[in-house]
Amino acid sequence: MSSAGRVVVVGAGMAAARLADGLAAAGRAVTVLGDEPHPPYNRILLSAVLEGTHDPAALELGLRDTVDLRLGTRVVDIHREQREVELADRSRVGYDALVLATGSIPTLPPIRGLVRPDGRLHEKVHAFRSLADCERLDAVVSTSSTNGVSTSSTDGVSTSSTDGVSTSSTNGVSTSSTNGVTGGRAVVVGGGLLGLQVARALSVRGLDVEVVEGGEHLLRGQVEERAGRIIARDLTRLGATVYTGTRAVRLTDDGLVLDNGFTLETDLVVLTAGGRPSTALARRAGLEVRRGIVVDERLRTSDAHIYAIGDCAQRGGTVTGFVPPAWEQAAVLARHLAGEEASYEPGRHVVRLRATGLDVAVLGDPVHAEGEVVEVTNPVVGSHRRLVVRDGRIVAGTLVGDLSRIGLITQHYDRGTVLGANEPGLLLMPDRATAAAEPQLPDDAEVCSCAGVSAGAVRTCGSLEEVRDTTRATTGCGGCSDAVRRLLATRTTLLEGTPR
Ligand SMILES: Cc1cc2nc3c(=O)[nH]c(=O)nc-3n(C[C@H](O)[C@H](O)[C@H](O)COP(=O)(O)OP(=O)(O)OC[C@H]3O[C@@H](n4cnc5c(N)ncnc54)[C@H](O)[C@@H]3O)c2cc1C
Repeated sequence: MSSAGRVVVVGAGMAAARLADGLAAAGRAVTVLGDEPHPPYNRILLSAVLEGTHDPAALELGLRDTVDLRLGTRVVDIHREQREVELADRSRVGYDALVLATGSIPTLPPIRGLVRPDGRLHEKVHAFRSLADCERLDAVVSTSSTNGVSTSSTDGVSTSSTDGVSTSSTNGVSTSSTNGVTGGRAVVVGGGLLGLQVARALSVRGLDVEVVEGGEHLLRGQVEERAGRIIARDLTRLGATVYTGTRAVRLTDDGLVLDNGFTLETDLVVLTAGGRPSTALARRAGLEVRRGIVVDERLRTSDAHIYAIGDCAQRGGTVTGFVPPAWEQAAVLARHLAGEEASYEPGRHVVRLRATGLDVAVLGDPVHAEGEVVEVTNPVVGSHRRLVVRDGRIVAGTLVGDLSRIGLITQHYDRGTVLGANEPGLLLMPDRATAAAEPQLPDDAEVCSCAGVSAGAVRTCGSLEEVRDTTRATTGCGGCSDAVRRLLATRTTLLEGTPR
């Protein structure tokens, strides 16, 4: 095969899919080499598969027919001199431009007993990163459910009430939990984005779920302490037990032992406690790697013919780990490789948590952003809204429990609107009238932060299917689905009202 003009992408994940689609649309020849057996799929929705609300096939991120997609193909080496990559079967594929989109790999927390003497994970232990992980876990959960061990309630959450569960802190792990049926218990290690999604999914499946987070609060990497505590309350209300400020140290026949001596009896342990950029290939090839593969504003590594995007890349000290920046990098690189001027700088991103019954949105970096803080918290109903404002502009924010103003807040955040003295406070006081005003978003307001789609682009579409196919809005975290539906509904009303 001639490699003239050929772009080869290593990894067939979310960033690769977006890039390959952009390149194919521009008529470029592109080969995608992915080690998983599945075509690229939406990882955000894995927990929806575990919950049982989505079929695995629904997660597929469709690629154009012209993309040369090779699945089950692991790249083991890069031969930079020859501009070739070597596959596990020792064959080689030539490239003109190589893109590393190898994502991240889960890290194993230091818990004794996780790995058996033969090097395999203990049979109770599961990772949750890929569709294969999800299917394995699903099979185990289905087995416990068919054994009649646990059943979910009609509203999809487990039957425990707030009286039966508690949120503990470093001062003492509470022993109370749901009724503790053997065979239907799961411990999720890690209270980050993945941990919360898995915990909710397992709760919805009817398991008694306990979450162990070593930090002082949940979602430690994304939100400040108060928000983390409200999220813990919400999760508790939904039927899980949350332990913060304590670490799991040992897995024994009796259960998972915490560092305060308490043991959680369990049938399943799901590891979600962090991941790190997958950089081994780049390192071996002698590319500059710090935490991630170091790239410049054109996503170029220390070799001018090799690029890196997504979770594996590091730009200016920042390693991401979310879909919106991965897709933005992919879009920038597709333009750059098509010969256009395009550059990427870590910027403003809005991340939504996809977990049934848990509404969380994070704008920018509310943990570290400096500025004046305007916040409204109502622990009784489990809502927390916080904006960090500098020179009148929203520079970061956290919304928990009530996302009715997310569209308007995101619009001000994206545009850097200079707000009046009372406006940030008013933005945090939603009412029905103002929430309903969101369809009036101006055409250039961003509605889908994963795919960078504006309200105007949605308004040009006639149906949800057309929105999905032409703009890719709603295909990422799905957090924009309601806004898109409202925009389409308003458009229909306006069209119907237009004299012919
Ligand atoms: C369960 C889960 C839930 C998530 N939820 C959210 C969320 O709600 N919001 C959000 O913004 N983000 C979320 N994320 C993170 C998001 O999925 C990632 O940021 C995104 O997938 C990054 O895309 P990527 O292409 O860089 O990496 P990936 O999608 O991880 O793809 C990398 C691919 O490269 C393959 N690969 C690696 N090395 C090789 C090799 N040598 N040869 C061939 N193939 C290789 C890997 O097997 C993998 O298929 C979630 C992630 C998980 C796992």
